[in-house]
Amino acid sequence: MSRRRRVYEGKAKVLYEGPEPGTLIQHFKDDATANNNQKHATIEGKGVLNNRISEFIFTKLNDIGVPTHFIRSINMREQLIREVEIIPCEVVVRNVAAGSLTKRLGIEEGTQLPRSIIEFYYKNDELGDPMVSEEHITAFGWATPQEIDDMMALALRVNDFMAGLFLGIGIRLVDFKVEFGRLYEGDMVRVVLADEISPDSCRLWDIRTNDKLDKDRFRQDMGGLIEAYQEVARRLGILFENEPKRRGPTLVK
Ligand code: UDP
Repeated sequence: MSRRRRVYEGKAKVLYEGPEPGTLIQHFKDDATANNNQKHATIEGKGVLNNRISEFIFTKLNDIGVPTHFIRSINMREQLIREVEIIPCEVVVRNVAAGSLTKRLGIEEGTQLPRSIIEFYYKNDELGDPMVSEEHITAFGWATPQEIDDMMALALRVNDFMAGLFLGIGIRLVDFKVEFGRLYEGDMVRVVLADEISPDSCRLWDIRTNDKLDKDRFRQDMGGLIEAYQEVARRLGILFENEPKRRGPTLVK
Protein backbone atom coordinates (compact mmCIF):
# COMPACT_ATOMS: atom_id res chain seq x y z
CA MET A 1 0.00 0.00 0.00
CA SER A 2 1.38 3.39 -0.91
CA ARG A 3 1.82 5.94 1.88
CA ARG A 4 -0.90 8.54 2.08
CA ARG A 5 -0.05 12.19 2.19
CA ARG A 6 -0.76 13.73 5.58
CA VAL A 7 -2.40 17.11 5.08
CA TYR A 8 -2.84 18.13 8.72
CA GLU A 9 -2.34 16.69 12.19
CA GLY A 10 -4.33 18.05 15.13
CA LYS A 11 -4.68 17.00 18.76
CA ALA A 12 -7.16 14.17 18.26
CA LYS A 13 -7.31 13.73 14.47
CA VAL A 14 -5.18 13.45 11.35
CA LEU A 15 -6.32 14.51 7.88
CA TYR A 16 -4.96 12.61 4.87
CA GLU A 17 -5.35 13.33 1.18
CA GLY A 18 -8.54 11.67 -0.10
CA PRO A 19 -9.02 9.39 -3.11
CA GLU A 20 -10.43 12.20 -5.30
CA PRO A 21 -9.69 15.91 -5.55
CA GLY A 22 -11.73 17.88 -3.02
CA THR A 23 -11.89 14.97 -0.56
CA LEU A 24 -9.92 14.15 2.59
CA ILE A 25 -9.75 11.22 5.00
CA GLN A 26 -10.38 12.16 8.63
CA HIS A 27 -8.62 9.75 11.01
CA PHE A 28 -9.54 9.68 14.72
CA LYS A 29 -6.60 9.09 17.11
CA ASP A 30 -6.71 7.86 20.70
CA ASP A 31 -5.00 11.03 21.99
CA ALA A 32 -6.73 13.29 24.49
CA THR A 33 -5.66 16.78 25.47
CA ALA A 34 -7.08 19.32 27.88
CA ASN A 35 -6.24 22.69 29.43
CA ASN A 36 -4.91 24.01 26.13
CA ASN A 37 -2.54 21.05 25.65
CA GLN A 38 -1.07 21.09 29.17
CA LYS A 39 -2.59 17.68 29.86
CA HIS A 40 -2.11 14.83 27.42
CA ALA A 41 -2.89 11.12 27.42
CA THR A 42 -3.57 8.26 25.05
CA ILE A 43 -6.84 6.49 25.79
CA GLU A 44 -7.09 3.23 23.88
CA GLY A 45 -10.31 2.94 21.91
CA LYS A 46 -11.38 6.60 22.14
CA GLY A 47 -10.76 7.28 18.45
CA VAL A 48 -12.91 4.35 17.34
CA LEU A 49 -15.80 5.46 19.57
CA ASN A 50 -15.58 9.11 18.52
CA ASN A 51 -15.44 8.16 14.83
CA ARG A 52 -18.54 5.97 15.26
CA ILE A 53 -20.52 8.53 17.26
CA SER A 54 -19.55 11.48 15.03
CA GLU A 55 -20.34 9.52 11.86
CA PHE A 56 -23.77 8.61 13.28
CA ILE A 57 -24.62 12.22 14.17
CA PHE A 58 -23.30 13.69 10.90
CA THR A 59 -25.27 11.13 8.87
CA LYS A 60 -28.47 12.06 10.71
CA LEU A 61 -27.75 15.77 10.24
CA ASN A 62 -27.19 15.24 6.50
CA ASP A 63 -30.52 13.37 6.46
CA ILE A 64 -32.40 16.37 7.90
CA GLY A 65 -30.76 18.78 5.47
CA VAL A 66 -27.99 20.26 7.60
CA PRO A 67 -25.07 20.54 5.16
CA THR A 68 -21.91 18.84 6.46
CA HIS A 69 -18.48 17.83 5.20
CA PHE A 70 -19.22 14.14 5.89
CA ILE A 71 -19.42 11.80 2.88
CA ARG A 72 -19.14 8.26 4.25
CA SER A 73 -17.50 5.97 6.73
CA ILE A 74 -14.33 4.18 5.58
CA ASN A 75 -13.33 2.04 8.55
CA MET A 76 -13.38 2.02 12.37
CA ARG A 77 -11.18 5.08 12.66
CA GLU A 78 -11.65 6.89 9.37
CA GLN A 79 -14.26 8.75 7.37
CA LEU A 80 -14.28 10.33 3.94
CA ILE A 81 -15.02 14.05 4.05
CA ARG A 82 -15.20 16.99 1.68
CA GLU A 83 -12.26 19.34 1.82
CA VAL A 84 -13.37 22.69 3.23
CA GLU A 85 -11.67 25.89 4.32
CA ILE A 86 -12.14 25.90 8.09
CA ILE A 87 -13.53 29.17 9.48
CA PRO A 88 -11.22 29.98 12.43
CA CYS A 89 -14.06 30.29 14.95
CA GLU A 90 -15.28 27.64 17.37
CA VAL A 91 -19.01 27.93 17.91
CA VAL A 92 -20.26 26.83 21.33
CA VAL A 93 -23.96 26.31 22.07
CA ARG A 94 -25.02 26.09 25.72
CA ASN A 95 -28.29 24.89 27.23
CA VAL A 96 -27.16 24.37 30.82
CA ALA A 97 -24.40 26.22 32.72
CA ALA A 98 -21.10 24.31 32.90
CA GLY A 99 -17.37 24.73 32.28
CA SER A 100 -16.02 28.16 31.44
CA LEU A 101 -19.47 29.81 31.67
CA THR A 102 -19.79 28.97 35.37
CA LYS A 103 -16.35 30.46 36.06
CA ARG A 104 -16.77 33.55 33.89
CA LEU A 105 -20.23 34.56 35.12
CA GLY A 106 -20.41 32.84 38.51
CA ILE A 107 -23.44 30.75 37.57
CA GLU A 108 -23.81 27.47 39.39
CA GLU A 109 -23.06 24.36 37.32
CA GLY A 110 -26.25 22.65 36.21
CA THR A 111 -28.39 25.82 36.04
CA GLN A 112 -30.79 25.66 33.10
CA LEU A 113 -30.14 28.72 30.90
CA PRO A 114 -33.08 31.00 30.02
CA ARG A 115 -32.49 30.13 26.36
CA SER A 116 -29.79 28.47 24.27
CA ILE A 117 -26.75 30.73 24.15
CA ILE A 118 -24.21 30.85 21.31
CA GLU A 119 -20.61 31.89 21.89
CA PHE A 120 -17.65 32.29 19.53
CA TYR A 121 -14.02 31.50 20.27
CA TYR A 122 -11.09 32.41 18.02
CA LYS A 123 -9.25 29.22 17.03
CA ASN A 124 -5.69 29.97 18.10
CA ASP A 125 -3.72 27.56 20.31
CA GLU A 126 -1.05 30.12 21.22
CA LEU A 127 -3.73 32.40 22.64
CA GLY A 128 -5.71 29.53 24.20
CA ASP A 129 -8.78 30.02 21.97
CA PRO A 130 -10.04 33.33 23.42
CA MET A 131 -13.74 34.16 23.43
CA VAL A 132 -14.60 36.80 20.81
CA SER A 133 -17.68 38.69 19.69
CA GLU A 134 -19.22 39.00 16.23
CA GLU A 135 -17.55 42.44 16.07
CA HIS A 136 -14.08 40.86 16.33
CA ILE A 137 -14.96 38.20 13.76
CA THR A 138 -16.14 40.66 11.11
CA ALA A 139 -13.56 43.38 11.89
CA PHE A 140 -10.65 40.95 11.51
CA GLY A 141 -12.25 39.24 8.50
CA TRP A 142 -12.45 35.73 10.01
CA ALA A 143 -16.03 35.43 8.68
CA THR A 144 -18.56 37.70 6.99
CA PRO A 145 -21.82 38.79 8.66
CA GLN A 146 -23.68 36.37 6.33
CA GLU A 147 -21.38 33.51 7.35
CA ILE A 148 -21.95 34.33 11.04
CA ASP A 149 -25.72 34.21 10.43
CA ASP A 150 -25.34 30.86 8.65
CA MET A 151 -23.17 29.43 11.44
CA MET A 152 -25.64 30.55 14.13
CA ALA A 153 -28.67 29.18 12.28
CA LEU A 154 -26.95 25.84 11.63
CA ALA A 155 -25.61 25.61 15.20
CA LEU A 156 -29.16 26.05 16.55
CA ARG A 157 -30.50 23.38 14.20
CA VAL A 158 -27.75 21.03 15.36
CA ASN A 159 -28.64 21.89 18.96
CA ASP A 160 -32.35 21.19 18.49
CA PHE A 161 -31.66 17.92 16.72
CA MET A 162 -29.08 16.69 19.21
CA ALA A 163 -30.98 17.81 22.31
CA GLY A 164 -33.93 15.70 21.13
CA LEU A 165 -31.78 12.76 20.08
CA PHE A 166 -30.03 12.63 23.46
CA LEU A 167 -33.16 13.33 25.50
CA GLY A 168 -34.68 10.22 23.94
CA ILE A 169 -31.84 8.09 25.34
CA GLY A 170 -31.82 9.63 28.80
CA ILE A 171 -28.98 12.11 28.26
CA ARG A 172 -29.02 15.89 28.76
CA LEU A 173 -27.14 17.90 26.11
CA VAL A 174 -25.49 20.52 28.33
CA ASP A 175 -23.32 22.21 25.69
CA PHE A 176 -21.18 21.46 22.66
CA LYS A 177 -18.66 22.96 20.27
CA VAL A 178 -18.86 22.85 16.49
CA GLU A 179 -16.72 24.13 13.64
CA PHE A 180 -17.74 25.20 10.18
CA GLY A 181 -15.99 25.34 6.83
CA ARG A 182 -16.41 26.97 3.46
CA LEU A 183 -17.23 24.44 0.75
CA TYR A 184 -16.28 25.66 -2.71
CA GLU A 185 -18.41 24.19 -5.52
CA GLY A 186 -17.61 25.80 -8.86
CA ASP A 187 -18.03 29.52 -8.31
CA MET A 188 -20.36 28.93 -5.35
CA VAL A 189 -19.27 28.85 -1.73
CA ARG A 190 -21.40 27.77 1.22
CA VAL A 191 -20.98 27.21 4.93
CA VAL A 192 -21.12 23.57 6.06
CA LEU A 193 -20.67 21.79 9.38
CA ALA A 194 -17.15 20.33 9.65
CA ASP A 195 -14.78 18.70 12.21
CA GLU A 196 -16.55 16.25 14.58
CA ILE A 197 -19.34 15.93 17.11
CA SER A 198 -18.48 13.45 19.85
CA PRO A 199 -18.24 13.22 23.65
CA ASP A 200 -14.89 15.03 23.23
CA SER A 201 -16.74 18.13 22.06
CA CYS A 202 -20.05 17.90 23.97
CA ARG A 203 -21.09 17.83 27.60
CA LEU A 204 -23.51 14.93 28.08
CA TRP A 205 -25.07 14.22 31.48
CA ASP A 206 -27.20 11.24 32.41
CA ILE A 207 -30.68 12.65 33.06
CA ARG A 208 -31.34 10.59 36.16
CA THR A 209 -27.93 10.51 37.89
CA ASN A 210 -26.20 13.57 36.35
CA ASP A 211 -23.22 11.27 35.62
CA LYS A 212 -20.83 12.86 33.14
CA LEU A 213 -20.60 10.88 29.91
CA ASP A 214 -18.05 13.14 28.19
CA LYS A 215 -14.49 14.48 28.16
CA ASP A 216 -14.93 16.21 31.53
CA ARG A 217 -14.08 12.75 32.94
CA PHE A 218 -10.58 13.28 31.52
CA ARG A 219 -10.39 17.03 32.28
CA GLN A 220 -11.38 16.39 35.90
CA ASP A 221 -9.39 13.12 36.35
CA MET A 222 -12.55 11.16 37.10
CA GLY A 223 -11.54 8.01 35.15
CA GLY A 224 -13.98 5.79 33.28
CA LEU A 225 -13.83 7.77 30.05
CA ILE A 226 -14.02 4.80 27.68
CA GLU A 227 -16.87 3.26 29.66
CA ALA A 228 -18.76 6.58 29.45
CA TYR A 229 -18.21 6.94 25.68
CA GLN A 230 -19.26 3.29 25.24
CA GLU A 231 -22.43 4.00 27.22
CA VAL A 232 -23.27 6.88 24.86
CA ALA A 233 -22.65 4.64 21.82
CA ARG A 234 -24.62 1.79 23.40
CA ARG A 235 -27.64 4.01 24.06
CA LEU A 236 -27.44 5.39 20.52
CA GLY A 237 -27.65 1.77 19.36
CA ILE A 238 -24.31 1.87 17.56
CA LEU A 239 -22.14 -0.30 19.81
CA PHE A 240 -22.45 -3.62 18.10
CA GLU A 241 -20.62 -6.02 20.40
CA ASN A 242 -23.58 -8.18 21.49
CA GLU A 243 -26.25 -6.77 19.25
CA PRO A 244 -25.14 -7.02 15.63
CA LYS A 245 -28.56 -6.47 14.07
CA ARG A 246 -29.95 -3.49 15.97
CA ARG A 247 -29.24 0.01 14.67
CA GLY A 248 -30.46 3.33 15.97
CA PRO A 249 -31.36 4.76 19.36
CA THR A 250 -33.62 3.03 21.88
CA LEU A 251 -36.07 5.33 23.60
CA VAL A 252 -35.50 5.66 27.35
CA LYS A 253 -38.76 6.32 29.20
N1 UDP B 1 -15.07 22.52 23.77
C1 UDP B 1 -14.36 21.82 22.81
N2 UDP B 1 -13.11 22.25 22.48
C2 UDP B 1 -12.52 23.33 23.03
C3 UDP B 1 -13.25 24.05 24.01
C4 UDP B 1 -14.52 23.62 24.35
O1 UDP B 1 -14.85 20.84 22.26
O2 UDP B 1 -11.38 23.68 22.66
C5 UDP B 1 -16.43 22.09 24.12
C6 UDP B 1 -16.49 21.50 25.52
O3 UDP B 1 -16.35 20.09 25.47
C7 UDP B 1 -17.87 21.88 25.96
C8 UDP B 1 -18.17 23.18 25.23
O4 UDP B 1 -17.26 23.22 24.13
O5 UDP B 1 -18.81 20.90 25.54
C9 UDP B 1 -18.02 24.42 26.07
O6 UDP B 1 -16.75 24.42 26.66
P1 UDP B 1 -16.28 25.53 27.71
O7 UDP B 1 -16.28 26.87 27.05
O8 UDP B 1 -17.09 25.41 28.95
O9 UDP B 1 -14.78 25.25 27.95
P2 UDP B 1 -14.02 24.23 28.89
O10 UDP B 1 -14.58 24.41 30.26
O11 UDP B 1 -14.30 22.89 28.30
O12 UDP B 1 -12.61 24.66 28.74
